[in-house]
Amino acid sequence: MMHETALVRNLIHRVEKLCADEEAERVVEVAVWLGALCHMSPEHFTDHFRQEAAGTCADQAHLRIETSDDINHPNAQDVLLQSLELETEDGSGP
Ligand SMILES: [Zn+2]
Repeated sequence: MMHETALVRNLIHRVEKLCADEEAERVVEVAVWLGALCHMSPEHFTDHFRQEAAGTCADQAHLRIETSDDINHPNAQDVLLQSLELETEDGSGP
């Protein structure tokens, strides 16, 4: 479905922008919130995410997904980026 692809592509673009801003090597974890009217189950979102994230800094990212059932929420049709855990090449990592 085009709407879903656009939502997820949008999200990945924001993640890539944040990655570039922070000069991060890769994304460790992405936390997202799925609105009640975005028409994606966590499994379906994951499928779209994997497809769109392939070859980006979020390629290997672990997903933390929160779902909402509030159809009156102002962002009910959206997918919101909650938080991002980035790995930065600073020499202190494992
Ligand atoms: Zn779909």
